[in-house]
Amino acid sequence: MNEKEVRLCTRCRLCETRTNTVFGEGDIDAKIFFIGEGPGETEDQTGRPFVGRAGELLNKMIAGMGLAREQVYIANIVKCRPPNNRVPAPDEVATCTPYLERQIEIIRPSAIVTLGLPSTQYMLQTKLSMGRMRGQFHAWRGIPLMPTYHPAYVLRNPTYETRSAVWSDLKQVLAKLGLPIPKKNV
Ligand code: URA
Repeated sequence: MNEKEVRLCTRCRLCETRTNTVFGEGDIDAKIFFIGEGPGETEDQTGRPFVGRAGELLNKMIAGMGLAREQVYIANIVKCRPPNNRVPAPDEVATCTPYLERQIEIIRPSAIVTLGLPSTQYMLQTKLSMGRMRGQFHAWRGIPLMPTYHPAYVLRNPTYETRSAVWSDLKQVLAKLGLPIPKKNV
């Protein structure tokens, strides 16, 4: 699995409008693997996942867990930015996710956190809503998977309820891994 193969990828139409592919980044031995939806504008420009406004909040979520961003792995269900940040189309997701699945198999994290509806629905092959899925563990090929709200959704709905739901989901992940749970004001 190499980044160059992805950088040159032309398997779907998203290659026509991308600036850079966004492979994913983090610790190859990460215990936690975060999966977002797809690169936005800043990610497309830099080639790095979650570096825009949603990324700033994801960084805070990771720091709130008592971890450094470098200790986890972060990727998306598609590696190229969908034009105007639209939701990736099912055929684009189907074409791209073999890359992601290989990354997860190589890293073999102890837990996966899906951020938002498209990555959760894809990984669990379901059409259920976020409200139905978050807050409890599911599994992807035997790896515990916790869905939670996407940081961009939290930015649009910055209520106590949304933020405490995310923190509750992340605390469950820490507990599952036997990691200390920092005190946090949500
Ligand atoms: N939103 C995502 O889902 N992924 C990114 O990499 C950035 C924003």
